[in-house]
Amino acid sequence: MGSFIGYRCSICQHEYLPGKVQYNCPHDGGNLDVILDYPTIQKYVGPHQILESKEPSLWRYLPILPVSEVGYYDTPFHRAGYTPVFSTPGLGKEYGIADLWIKDESRNPTASFKDRASAVVVARAREIKADVVVTASTGNAGAALAGMAAAIGQKAVIFAPRTAPPAKIAQLLVFGAQVILVDGNYDSAFDLTIQASQEFGWYCRNTGYNPFTAEGKKTAAFEIWEWWETIHQGTVKPKKLAVFVSVGDGNIISGIHKGFKDLYALGWLDRIPRIIGVQAEGSAAIANAFRQGTEEIIPVSANTLADSISVDLPRDGVRAVRAARETNGTYITVKDNEILGAIAALGKAGIFAEPAGATSYAGFVKAAQAGLLNSDEAVLVLNTGSGLKDVKAAMQAVHEAPIIEPNMRALKQYMKK
Ligand SMILES: *Cc1c(COP(=O)(O)O)cnc(C)c1O
Ligand SMILES: [Zn+2]
Repeated sequence: MGSFIGYRCSICQHEYLPGKVQYNCPHDGGNLDVILDYPTIQKYVGPHQILESKEPSLWRYLPILPVSEVGYYDTPFHRAGYTPVFSTPGLGKEYGIADLWIKDESRNPTASFKDRASAVVVARAREIKADVVVTASTGNAGAALAGMAAAIGQKAVIFAPRTAPPAKIAQLLVFGAQVILVDGNYDSAFDLTIQASQEFGWYCRNTGYNPFTAEGKKTAAFEIWEWWETIHQGTVKPKKLAVFVSVGDGNIISGIHKGFKDLYALGWLDRIPRIIGVQAEGSAAIANAFRQGTEEIIPVSANTLADSISVDLPRDGVRAVRAARETNGTYITVKDNEILGAIAALGKAGIFAEPAGATSYAGFVKAAQAGLLNSDEAVLVLNTGSGLKDVKAAMQAVHEAPIIEPNMRALKQYMKK
């Protein structure tokens, strides 16, 4: 497919041909948006072909992605995306929202949203014949790259903070990537990764640096669009939709915004949903900028138990601010104990989220309590990662179980309490 025609800088608007640049804008470091040739796409595919596709993965959107057919059918690599949207009777009512849905990204092959980005970056790596793909990660991006790469025999190198949750480090190691833990935070791993990729000629997946990560992440917007079309088939489209997204670097929210913009430009979507970003109070550089009405992202010294969104300097902050501003959305910040509360609440709906995954739900609760949602508005909350990724945090969200002698007397005594 020849619909990938170049990049446009999100800061200076300068355009580049596909072969001319690989990462951020050489002039100002701005994030590059991938430019697709919409008329060409429209010539070959319409919304109905997508809606009727039987492909149960993000590869159903191949005609609207900047990579070509990659094969590897029946591997985990080919199974990223196409996650379920769950109805949660009970959860929303408490807050006066009748129509609350959770899109569960923990169902991805390596159990987080990051598989979307990593699958598309690995496909790109194949096209440009990269020997090695490298990324910095708080854990999930690395696990996703390691898993997608392992599935197709691509070499991967991962840099992560030594403090990453053990389950995430275990995934990296089990997938057979070269794992290097840095005695520092995510931001220091990020900078080291860029230097290493330049020096050793590795292809760098870093979030908010490689333009293809947002292209992978936009597929979640395509799925939300398909889901919305399908549940409203034959009915008057009732409501507006608000989408809640946890935000660290700001690349998921930017990618989702890009996906909706693609669909709008193609004429397949007539109204872009409100996009509401949720950050941890201790890692809120993007929310701060949004509230100041500026696009200037001032780094913070991040401190939150939600490790996947613990970022000093968000690498996709400008586009992340715009995602909320241009869709009439907003930013919400939540405390760590509100995140733990959200883990427990989602658990009661049968959904197991890691702290960053539940952050979006904590933001929904806060927005609903503050009266920021209309009662006739449908709400979709993304759970971006599995609770199995961080069992220690999960245990903080619940009460300990009692331990008793294995006999009826002890049990009866306990039950009386
Ligand atoms: C990476 C990640 C996020 C945030 O994505 P950004 O692109 O960094 O904003 C949220 N939740 C989980 C589970 C993640 O792994
Ligand atoms: Zn630029």
